[in-house]
Amino acid sequence: MTRRSFFSVGGAAIAGSALKVPAGGDITGSRTRQGSDDKIKKYVTLGRTGFQVSDIAVGGVPLRDTAVVRHAYEKGINYFDLGESYGRGAAERAVGEAMPYMERDKIFITTKVGVGDNDTVDTILDRFRRCKERLQTEYIDAFYMHGVTSVAALSNAAFHTATDRLKADGQIRFIGLSCHGPGRGGDSLEDVLLAAVEDGRFDQFLFTYNFLNSEVGDKVLAACKEKNIGTTAMKTKPGSLPPTPFDPDNPTEQQAQMIERNINRGRTREQAIQGIRGQIQRQEETYQNTRPFLEKYGITTQEELDLASIHWVVQNPDMHTACVSSNSLDIIDKVVPLSGTTMTPVEMDVLREYGQVISSQYCRHGCSTCAEACPHDLPVSTIMRYAYYYECQGREKEAMVKYAGLDDGDASLCMACDAPCRGACPYGIDVQANLLEAHSRLTL
Ligand code: SF4
Ligand code: SF4
Repeated sequence: MTRRSFFSVGGAAIAGSALKVPAGGDITGSRTRQGSDDKIKKYVTLGRTGFQVSDIAVGGVPLRDTAVVRHAYEKGINYFDLGESYGRGAAERAVGEAMPYMERDKIFITTKVGVGDNDTVDTILDRFRRCKERLQTEYIDAFYMHGVTSVAALSNAAFHTATDRLKADGQIRFIGLSCHGPGRGGDSLEDVLLAAVEDGRFDQFLFTYNFLNSEVGDKVLAACKEKNIGTTAMKTKPGSLPPTPFDPDNPTEQQAQMIERNINRGRTREQAIQGIRGQIQRQEETYQNTRPFLEKYGITTQEELDLASIHWVVQNPDMHTACVSSNSLDIIDKVVPLSGTTMTPVEMDVLREYGQVISSQYCRHGCSTCAEACPHDLPVSTIMRYAYYYECQGREKEAMVKYAGLDDGDASLCMACDAPCRGACPYGIDVQANLLEAHSRLTL
């Protein structure tokens, strides 16, 4: 089956990603096909900001088309989650071009900059100015520290001095942060977010939350509720990497390299081939297991599973809004009917069974449990997140560039490794096989 997700791809070109099972059931309910008349039905108070936010928001990673922004606004979506790095400013530009068509005080704009040790007050102010210019607005509702990886980074003096000045000038109203979990040697997602709650200066958060990755998120949501912090979700659907088929007589470049490296380590060619076969077989078995589940519910597209995953987040009253990455009018039309609704028992059953099938394939964003078992200290979670961008968000080029830019080692090290990480994942993920799949996709 084609597992590339419908949702975060810029455009509707792969709306029909077909699962090869007979049609016949209806898991997402008729509401997702109600058409273009639907509007947002539920608005929630976004923590201490007091803003009444739509329970579904536009996530700006793939956003490029200003018509999508205007369409979302007409549908009642009033929150746009942006960042200077999203399309190198293109997402901000798309919202900026739509600005004359929207009532400014009826929308909430968030944008972000990654803040490093080399940043100064001036560099942050300069980057903020450019964000604001692209957005064609006098003020940003919330300015975020992007991708925070350590508790220490929360106290970055340059960021806080700059944001204090911007607040005093009326150029920003609130500050926030986004967190994907640790980089090498960083702190866990849980530690970072709970420390940020205690810090008291951050008014809202953006973090990973989906039905297979909610344990830490639920703790964070409870802490945010107590301090009245705004909560926004990203990566609202899990994803996994399908195995690359293996033909020993015609291996891919990566597979040939893997055979070569194993031979160099004293293994026979046959042993090397058996090793690769074993890995691919384990992954294939998982995918084959999806068949009865899909047939039972008559699921024919990945889109249905994605919608159900997003719906699970939307219905959580403690998550103020779910950011759905989108650059497509069609996607907006499909998610808006989920607003203000709760899942049916059948939809919940679908997610439970879907979760059982892919649990041992989905590397949880923000987790780093297995990294300790790796003698090379590979940033497993980061590499798998880039693979998610590539496979599930249609961000191939960007993911490959990010992977090439990793300065703490890449997954080629897994090729001839005896895998002491085996068994280290509490979810049963084959760390080595997944990293090798990630490497073959992400290598430029
Ligand atoms: S493979 Fe498992 S333990 Fe390792 S980062 Fe992913 S979810 Fe966590
Ligand atoms: S297989 Fe990869 S992740 Fe596992 S221990 Fe070896 S190098 Fe580290």
